[in-house]
Amino acid sequence: MQLTLDGTYVDRMMILRVVLTMVLVCSTRSSSENVNLDMKEILESAKEIRFMEWLREVRRRIHEYPELGFEEVKTSQLIRSELDSLGVQYTWPVATTGVVATIGSGDHPCFALRADMDALPIQELVEWEHKSKNEGKMHACGHDAHTTMVLGAARLLHERRHKLKGTVKLVFQPAEEGKGGAYHVLREGALEKVQGILGLHVSPDFPTGTIASRPGPMLAASGRFIATFRPNYGHLLFPHPVLAASMAISLLQQAIHRETDPSQPKVLTVGFVESNQVGSLTPDLVKFGGTFRCFSSELQSYIRRRIKEVTEIQAAVHGCSGTIDFMEDRLIPYPPTMNDKGLYEHAKRVGEGMLGKENVKFSPMIMAAEDFGFYSQKMAASFFLIGIQNETAKSGTQTHSPYFVIDEEVLPIGAAFHAAVALSYFHTQLPSLLINTTNFHVS
Ligand SMILES: [Zn+2]
Ligand SMILES: [Zn+2]
Repeated sequence: MQLTLDGTYVDRMMILRVVLTMVLVCSTRSSSENVNLDMKEILESAKEIRFMEWLREVRRRIHEYPELGFEEVKTSQLIRSELDSLGVQYTWPVATTGVVATIGSGDHPCFALRADMDALPIQELVEWEHKSKNEGKMHACGHDAHTTMVLGAARLLHERRHKLKGTVKLVFQPAEEGKGGAYHVLREGALEKVQGILGLHVSPDFPTGTIASRPGPMLAASGRFIATFRPNYGHLLFPHPVLAASMAISLLQQAIHRETDPSQPKVLTVGFVESNQVGSLTPDLVKFGGTFRCFSSELQSYIRRRIKEVTEIQAAVHGCSGTIDFMEDRLIPYPPTMNDKGLYEHAKRVGEGMLGKENVKFSPMIMAAEDFGFYSQKMAASFFLIGIQNETAKSGTQTHSPYFVIDEEVLPIGAAFHAAVALSYFHTQLPSLLINTTNFHVS
């Protein structure tokens, strides 16, 4: 064929190829520019003065009346009343106080945005106009901001509901702090048809205007324990439970670090040791307890088993009895939070389009635990940190501190990011959409 072509024909082919390439490049560029324009338009809407004032006012109302896990009655009421004003439908109660709102077609695919609602048993020491009015309780982990941002996303999405090619579930869940609210939301079947979920957490480690995350393991699995030692008085030795407990504490450190893969991060922390005696008398009761963290369910099970074995064996060696309580009936252990690669990449692209590439950071793995890990066991999940560090707002203090402060400029950014990830989710072909979730169950 080539031999029969004259020069003119070859030139025409080349011109055609160049034109086709230009059309392709231009259409790709314009579609990605459109996506970025959409992202920016959503952020601009959220930053409009009246929208921002509404966000700030909602957050402050929640902040003034913090409630502990499964007691978020007033917070839940506030959420429902805001959803009623917006005209957004919801299911309530979910897992005691939770609310799950629905926006969109009602059909597949289904994507969820998650906010936690609970506060901490901490007395707020920040002196400001909207200080906690509930003695000994404080939103010191930013869940007041999380709830506000998802309410903001509800408003942004409701205004753009004609653009939704699927269904968005807005999950206002109770009891993230230690009580596993996410586990109970899933157990009630509230998210049966959801394929992907996004969660945000405010972070004083990153400046306002930035977000951060990573694919794969993001947050640790966690468990708690209390070991109790009692002397066996019939024993020929002089059993000393303090010695038994001390040996067990040392050996636990050795067991965790010498018996497991050194490239796998993990930690076991003993946070307290106590006995029922002071002075020179031998106590008849010694307790110690703490927490353990790692990034895989297998390692979590291994550490749990070794805590029990080391405690019981060291107690026996020292003529004592040793028992272990993992408190799992009250404080459910959390699985690791694993970010789905496809969903992480999708949210990252949305963040880059909205905030600029330089403002989407790569996060290290973090030893904090979150009940968001339960969602990541069931569906494609992605958890992002959202920066609140701002010298002017004096918001550099870590969470769980009585001096914790939020830079409220984060509210429109979080609302817009939530909404944009959900809106654009339906236009992507993520492999995670194909994940079969029917075999999953929460026990
Ligand atoms: Zn917290
Ligand atoms: Zn938190």
